Amino acid sequence: MEQKPNLIEKPFTLVLPCSFSTGPFMGRFLQEIKENKRLVGNKCPQCGRTMLPPRIVCALCHVEAGDWVELSDKGSLVSFDIVYIPTINPMTGKIREVPYATGNILLDGGDATIWHFLEEKDPAKIRVGMRLQAVFREEGRVGDITDIVHFRTIEE
Ligand SMILES: [Zn+2]
Repeated sequence: MEQKPNLIEKPFTLVLPCSFSTGPFMGRFLQEIKENKRLVGNKCPQCGRTMLPPRIVCALCHVEAGDWVELSDKGSLVSFDIVYIPTINPMTGKIREVPYATGNILLDGGDATIWHFLEEKDPAKIRVGMRLQAVFREEGRVGDITDIVHFRTIEE
């Protein structure tokens, strides 16, 4: 009978810093958030839908995307989730504090929606149709969707 070798295990933590190019479309979207605290998308010239984040081609029509459009930072809540189970934030490696709420927000003046965190976490105070506005990080924006801290409830 063959004897298995007694191998030594050496545990270590792999640190693998990496980056990738966002490309011209996602890059412009993130640059507008970083430099101007502004949301932009682009339009499909065939079906007319607004793509947010912007895309090089419309996923429905398979045609090259058209004009850039500036989008409102205000909108109405379409749907939402309230999360009670703690999970690890893959960007920080830390456990997210619960509960937290995320929502799909239809931005004013068009058909673009964005899914993001809601400032409000109390289920009794969250309702479909409520008015929301993006809150951008005032300092230290890096060109990431997290430069939008959350969407806060607004009274109108
Ligand atoms: Zn289209």
